[in-house]
Amino acid sequence: MLRNDQLAEWDRETFFHPSTHLAQFARGEVQSRIISGASGCHIEDRNGNKHLDAFAGLYCVNVGYGRPEIAEAISKQAHELAYYHAYVGHGTEASITLAKMVLDRAPDHMSKVYFGLSGSDANETNIKLIWYYNNILGRPEKKKIISRWRGYHGSGLMTGSLTGLELFHKKFDLPLAQVVHTEAPYYYRRDDLDQTEEQFVAHCVTKLEELIAREGADTIAAFIGEPVLGTGGIVPPPAGYWPAIQAVLDKHDILLVADEVVTGFGRLGTMMGSDHYGIKPDLITIAKGLTSAYAPLSGSIVSDKMWKVLEQGTDENGPIGHGWTYSAHPIGAAAGVANLKLLDDLDLITNNRETGGYLNSAMHDALGDHPNVGDIRGEGMLCAVEFVKDRSDRVYFDAADKVGPQIAGALADLGVIGRAMPQGDILGFAPPFCLNRAEADEVVTKTVQAVSRILD
Ligand code: PMP
Repeated sequence: MLRNDQLAEWDRETFFHPSTHLAQFARGEVQSRIISGASGCHIEDRNGNKHLDAFAGLYCVNVGYGRPEIAEAISKQAHELAYYHAYVGHGTEASITLAKMVLDRAPDHMSKVYFGLSGSDANETNIKLIWYYNNILGRPEKKKIISRWRGYHGSGLMTGSLTGLELFHKKFDLPLAQVVHTEAPYYYRRDDLDQTEEQFVAHCVTKLEELIAREGADTIAAFIGEPVLGTGGIVPPPAGYWPAIQAVLDKHDILLVADEVVTGFGRLGTMMGSDHYGIKPDLITIAKGLTSAYAPLSGSIVSDKMWKVLEQGTDENGPIGHGWTYSAHPIGAAAGVANLKLLDDLDLITNNRETGGYLNSAMHDALGDHPNVGDIRGEGMLCAVEFVKDRSDRVYFDAADKVGPQIAGALADLGVIGRAMPQGDILGFAPPFCLNRAEADEVVTKTVQAVSRILD
């Protein structure tokens, strides 16, 4: 086995880490951390440190680590047939079975699933399908996509543009011109503190209507949103938000993409976030929870309405000019089948709902009155704590003080992984669905200690 110091040296010399301060890493100011094993909700590094991973990797290891059922399915598939492509009608038992399982779990009006590898590429697929759809319908000018500030949809060229976080645009010449952003349904950060949730929803609707009027409805193809804003701060929408937005989109013949990369397959305590909020999407993006990240796999679920037009398009133009070498990769598909089966067999979504609810209420009880805690919010197995300098007027700490990352760091020192969300001092939690109450208690107790180390 390679020595830790050898690996750390190679790491610094050769490895380009995503979402990392490259210069700080090179100078040794960001630690090299080599993860070597994991089981249930816990991960272990090469120095023997164990942590309760209360973010499930990147909210993706939903069934928990170390599941032999999934490992064996992957191994069996690799032995029998590691790869064959899915072009021109080819498939494998695993990919076809998974498509059926996905459609069985999606809203009734959905028709087909295209498999990719990551949430980003699935959203790229979605945008291409939307453009193709409008070209086939003879409205080539209807192409712009509305996204929300603080939305997260990936970090490719188009998907990085859809993402509404400054860090993903700055110095990359993004967003691209076809993308426009609208208000996030972030009730805690409303400008007018006197607004009720209902009034705030009306305000979000007005902002959307104004944007559509400004751009022209005949130039706008689609609206993309996560049922619950994830990376932008874990923000569940106020009651009534989704039906109100959907009504505006329907009125202007604008398609709706529900980006369920985080919420799909149980994270909110229901199978899909679209069902949870009564959203009727034209496309659904899935990834993370599809395989619990045991292998990379994503998908774009296409509605009946869009599918009919796509078929018509190929009759007029020939085969769809879209495909990756690794679309519906058999190993990812085998992982997906085993993962979705496990989710059912162990009734993990029920546990998620119950323990997630417990985690959220325990977090409220423990930190709800803290003078620097402005908001605690969550849904299912998602929870966020937002820190402020002054809770009476929701003033942020200076960004340079890095209060969020400091608290996340102190929490990690205590043995629990949460995530400092990239914008604002927000500590996020998205544990595996198998979290038990004792583990939820540990997350809360240690969060209180970490907050006290940094702020008291
Ligand atoms: N959409 C959402 C809602 C996400 O949270 C993410 C990833 N965090 C993505 C898309 C992009 O997925 P990936 O990182 O697999 O490209």
